[in-house]
Amino acid sequence: MGLGKSGRSLLDTARRLGARCQAADTRLLADADALRSRYPDVDFHFGAFRPGQFSGADAVLVSPGLAWDIPALRQAREQGVPILGDMELFGQLAHAPIVAITGSNGKSTVTTLVGEMAKAAGWRVAVGGNLGTPALELLPSNGPEPELYVLELSSFQLAACTQFHPRAAAILNFSPDHLDWHGDYTAYQAAKARIFQAMGTGDTLVLNAGDAAVMALAPTVPTGVRIVTFAAPDAHTPGSVMERDGYFWRLGEGASERLMAVTQLRLMGAHNRENAMAALALGSAVGLPAAAMAQALATFAGLPHRMSRVGQVAGVDYYDDSKGTNLGATLKAIAGLPGPLVLILGGDAKGADLSPLRAACAGQRAAVLLGKDAPLLAEILAGVLPLRRVGSMEEAVRAAAAMARPGDQVLLSPACASLDMFADYQDRGHQFQQAVRNLAGGEG
Ligand code: ADP
Repeated sequence: MGLGKSGRSLLDTARRLGARCQAADTRLLADADALRSRYPDVDFHFGAFRPGQFSGADAVLVSPGLAWDIPALRQAREQGVPILGDMELFGQLAHAPIVAITGSNGKSTVTTLVGEMAKAAGWRVAVGGNLGTPALELLPSNGPEPELYVLELSSFQLAACTQFHPRAAAILNFSPDHLDWHGDYTAYQAAKARIFQAMGTGDTLVLNAGDAAVMALAPTVPTGVRIVTFAAPDAHTPGSVMERDGYFWRLGEGASERLMAVTQLRLMGAHNRENAMAALALGSAVGLPAAAMAQALATFAGLPHRMSRVGQVAGVDYYDDSKGTNLGATLKAIAGLPGPLVLILGGDAKGADLSPLRAACAGQRAAVLLGKDAPLLAEILAGVLPLRRVGSMEEAVRAAAAMARPGDQVLLSPACASLDMFADYQDRGHQFQQAVRNLAGGEG
């Protein structure tokens, strides 16, 4: 079910395993004919799922993010048909150890960091999941498996996991997100917690000591799993990673081990120091050498659209944090810049309560609001700072430039998803960068 990127990896895998497949998507996909000729053996169905559509199947493979409570799936479930997501299927087919990363923010950064660390150590590593290549496409079609898989997992993917079993896993932080899909914050957190439900003796779970909601999961972790933390100066479990006196340290059985100077980290900002510590704890859990881990942290310059500086126009710096799609990410982005800021906010809030932005925006220069939930933000920020409503990114950047003073920063970190106005967060970020370049051109 579902024929996006992950759905197609499910279809390819099922066919490779010799299954006779039926594939369905509610959308009338533009490449439907191409799919039919590429997979002549598959019975395709486009349009609304029919009740009873999957009765008689040996298994239903569902794409991440698809609603689970639709009648066609409910019926299949009642008839005892196994329903599997892509990560669950991957877990059943992969043999090499898996490092799995989830949380509300920082997943892609930490996943990439651990991958870079393994590469620096000379390991054959495959990196993907919710980021980049779908997990199932990382499995070798012939030839040997990699020595390590590093996977980013979304709450949607985890909601469909029961036996998925990583050797090491991390829960980075919790911030309300995707509440429209999960129903409420508790259900969202419960989905993330499924990352450790099948773990056991010999496995390591990495938790953020600075996030009370993450730490509250510790008592529910299966016995035998080693819990280590990052970001707690007083941690006592060996393998935990912390920042002290300008260095990252790893707690050993006896003395602590100094891993690297914090200033060697190429990524900027307090949140990236947390990401680095999480990556160090995960890398340590699977036996990566400290020198290789430090080398990767000193080299990796960050992923695009995560607090990346676009340039300066008329003495104002412009930052693209288009991947700031929820409250937690935007709060970190605001805290990470000196200010005063002109903020560009708005899009689809996905049902989250964004009222903490009120305090975070106090004392900033102005906010420009766009997208579906601009009215909601206007209500939250009324009286806190000057506001402007706009209808496009081009207009947003021009409005921001008009309100900014030399020395200010303009920050695109919308706290919202982009899909109401843009193809995706990359498209939103590119449009922002283009608008900044247009400004610079106009200036000249
Ligand atoms: P994810 O894959 O979880 O979306 P990314 O690494 O792509 O995470 O970063 C997404 C957004 O969250 C960016 O705006 C980034 O600046 C911010 N961010 C990254 N790491 C953290 C963190 N540890 N805590 C809070 N925000 C973060």
